[in-house]
Amino acid sequence: LFVDQPLAIGASLRIEGNQAHYLVNVMRLAEGAPVKLFDDISGEYLARVTARGKRDITLTLESLLRTREAVPDFWLCAAPIKKARFDFLAEKACELGVARFVPVLTDRAVVDKVKDDRLRGTMIEAAEQCERTALPVIAPLTRLDALLKSWPEGRHLFFADERLHEDRGVSFSQALTRHSGPAAVLIGPEGGFTDAENAAIRSHPAAVPVSLGPRILRAETAAIAATAVWMASLGD
Ligand code: SAM
Repeated sequence: LFVDQPLAIGASLRIEGNQAHYLVNVMRLAEGAPVKLFDDISGEYLARVTARGKRDITLTLESLLRTREAVPDFWLCAAPIKKARFDFLAEKACELGVARFVPVLTDRAVVDKVKDDRLRGTMIEAAEQCERTALPVIAPLTRLDALLKSWPEGRHLFFADERLHEDRGVSFSQALTRHSGPAAVLIGPEGGFTDAENAAIRSHPAAVPVSLGPRILRAETAAIAATAVWMASLGD
């Protein structure tokens, strides 16, 4: 369970709201029951239920189970798509281990707003489910031109381009054998990037255009596939 405050051995936490409802009414935890908590700062702790009300529960931290993990240095930059599909994309990105998630506003965006709270909630649930001890950083929605302008030096920008395959472009897994180090993948919206965007991305010094295969993948499939390929090659 994620707790949005710094944790320490010996501390007692009184939990209310949805989390208390989950622990008291869904999990039906009795006094003495163990609960794993993480704070995205120091790590994951073993706690026990030391008091239980109808709408609140008190947990006392016994020991540190794991220090906060070192997250592989991979960013996923993806244009927002329709709500349920973007939630799915964010959930899988978290499970697969991305360090940073950057929603990118592009010319063909059908969705031009992102609810940060909703995205964070989805990522927290995914982190709890897959036992991450560090949450991905969620960047604010950023225009593509601003993203390119402020791109950090030394970070490869793998540009997932579905048109590349026709030109016998390099596959993402091949590209990774040549470009190690901090990386990000950039995925377009349902309608893809415009020609002008495509040219702007390609002319960026950090850009490495890559193919994810001969089929045109849905944006969320492309994001998940690219993240899985990177994690399988370089993540740990
Ligand atoms: N331009 C497209 C169209 O409407 O025919 C499709 C865009 S695709 C649904 C969304 C994004 O997924 C693309 O912008 C690209 O970043 C990525 N993508 C999909 N298939 C890909 C592939 N085979 N190789 C590389 N990237 C791919």
